[in-house]
Amino acid sequence: MKEAILYEVIDDNTKEVECKLCSHYCKIKNNYGGICRVRFNHNGVLYSYTYGKVDGVAIDPIEKKPFYHFKPKSRVLSFGTPGCNFKCANCQNSYLSQSIKLKPDHLLVQETIPPEEIVRLAEKYDVDGISYTYSEPTIFFEYARDIILKCKENPGTRNLVHLFVSNGYFSKEMLQIVVEEQLLDAINIDLKFIDDQKYLKITGGHLKPVLDSIERVFSANIHMEIINLVIPGENDTDESFSKISEFIANLSKDIPLHFSRFYPQYKMTTKTPTPYSTLIRAKEIAESYGLNFVYIGNTDIPNAENTYCPNCKFLVVERERYLTNVNYFVENGKAKCPKCLETLPIVV
Ligand code: SF4
Repeated sequence: MKEAILYEVIDDNTKEVECKLCSHYCKIKNNYGGICRVRFNHNGVLYSYTYGKVDGVAIDPIEKKPFYHFKPKSRVLSFGTPGCNFKCANCQNSYLSQSIKLKPDHLLVQETIPPEEIVRLAEKYDVDGISYTYSEPTIFFEYARDIILKCKENPGTRNLVHLFVSNGYFSKEMLQIVVEEQLLDAINIDLKFIDDQKYLKITGGHLKPVLDSIERVFSANIHMEIINLVIPGENDTDESFSKISEFIANLSKDIPLHFSRFYPQYKMTTKTPTPYSTLIRAKEIAESYGLNFVYIGNTDIPNAENTYCPNCKFLVVERERYLTNVNYFVENGKAKCPKCLETLPIVV
């Protein structure tokens, strides 16, 4: 375990602390943990219990995260750690995110991997970057930060990119560190619902902090893509698609929006997978708000993962699952449409 950052003692007598890493802003009494159950207060010192407790190490195509407009065809080392600040009933990685609640001893027996070992693996496998994913990376921010700083010290990993796949519930204080230290190159934020009651019921969090994060990441000029998992009966109405699309379009029509197909998981096993017709409707509604890059993931709907030039509709990136074929060309570091020469909002 490691002492946490972004906390303060709020009562010198009782040693109660406030954690400022995520938007729960937990006030934690002595000898108790926060909502994520992986940060504990011992005598007024807050500790991260998941520092180095790596799980699910794999090398993935960047498209799997999904990032479609950030260095297409890159290979990224991916991992998570146990625990999460949400408790989503539909979690795809509940074995990891909810493992502390299901098996409280889990962390005690799990080996601690020092940051240098992740850096060594990244260099050994010659990846293009590291993706902090599977569970919410905010709650292992200290570990991710140490890995990123060590990567930057090492000539062989200095130029790697670092990506968070996040629920967007990180605090403004955490994002400030990310910006000041230039830690992250891209963030994918899961905007799960556009209704606060739904957020609270299914995730345990609130809507506004996620919307605030999206606005802050956009203002900080960090590459961002948004994903919305469409769950039958929960967030599959035209009103939901419209509100999400309007919110994103008001920031920029070039932010990629991924609608993803739900499959029965964890505590939502009685629901059916999302009908294709619903996902196609979601895409049509998002495009009616002027969004230029709307994708459908987790299906085999033809052309739903392709990128077309917004100016001339030329097919600039073809994707089929995780096979990617790039048709744009690069000039002065910018992706360009080969047909009309339009500059494309794709980081190359
Ligand atoms: S990371 Fe979030 S959930 Fe965990 S203790 Fe801190 S404020 Fe609470």
